[in-house]
Amino acid sequence: MTAKTPPIRLAIHGGAGGIRRDKLTPEREQAFVQVLTQSLQTGYQVLVQGGTSTDAVAAAIVIMEDSPVFNAGKGAVFSHEGHNELDASIMDGASLNAGAVAAVTTIRNPILAAQAVMTNSPHVMLIGTGAEHFAAEQGLEIVEPSYFFVQHRWNQLQKAKENEQIALDHDLETESQTQAKTQNDEKHGTVGSVALDHYGNLAAGTSTGGLTNKRFGRIGDTPIIGAGTYADNRSVAISATGTGEMFIRTAAAYQTAIQVRLQNMPLAQAADDTLAEIAAIGGEGGLIVLNAKGDYALRFNTSGMFRGVIGNDGIVHIGIFPGNEIPAQSR
Ligand code: ASP
Repeated sequence: MTAKTPPIRLAIHGGAGGIRRDKLTPEREQAFVQVLTQSLQTGYQVLVQGGTSTDAVAAAIVIMEDSPVFNAGKGAVFSHEGHNELDASIMDGASLNAGAVAAVTTIRNPILAAQAVMTNSPHVMLIGTGAEHFAAEQGLEIVEPSYFFVQHRWNQLQKAKENEQIALDHDLETESQTQAKTQNDEKHGTVGSVALDHYGNLAAGTSTGGLTNKRFGRIGDTPIIGAGTYADNRSVAISATGTGEMFIRTAAAYQTAIQVRLQNMPLAQAADDTLAEIAAIGGEGGLIVLNAKGDYALRFNTSGMFRGVIGNDGIVHIGIFPGNEIPAQSR
């Protein structure tokens, strides 16, 4: 008998929201699928080569931050003042060590800055120019704020200002399709990843530009440990996307993890319970959840969530809408 290969697994999301089949052109869908595939394969390579779950999570997120199609890194949404203010966090489920940055405007890959905060500082969260100085000292790539500019995000800001909206917005629409949105048509574009490595360790990370037209230094759930991100080997790794304020108010990621740990709740049920609480206070979004056996649940209460998963066999599974695009593995 040969020893059983320990499970490895990586799951990602690229935001949940009112994604509509009739508005998603084949070209746009292809663009999303291509980046999700590359993200999964990049994280998988880290895991297959014996890398850690935190490195796999960071590598998978860097691909999505570097792509203009997601609301993280390049292509992030604009604040009211016309800036890209980025938030990110990461957590190691073995040590409960964590790192985060918020409202940074010049760090090319905020997730790497969050990882550096976790690994190379005694702190958990650094913000603004302080975080940028730290990232530069760590040798991370610093860019001009204009690096993050993408025209359709700029157009979205103008639209949001006209409509006096503070919008969670994935922007799947082409410019000609952009119309005043109803609440149900809003989209969320944060990216995130959870991973299980060969050593049995879990990690989670999340990165975002936040909300279009946000003001006054608004920060959402993404860089807040226990809200947008959480990982604990005793329960699960989680990354969230959605209406950040409600995810903070429900301590969404921690709440989901503690239900699994203390109640032994199945992952999908724990995620759905949390999403129901979020819905009850007027929020919406999604959660990706992974445990140390490699079981996962990718749940959302919106019309769609960009998501994907890969395991030992290296086969990429990607889903956008509800249904069976991804094999159910949740226990
Ligand atoms: N949760 C993010 C925030 O509130 C937004 C998103 O998921 O799209 O900043």
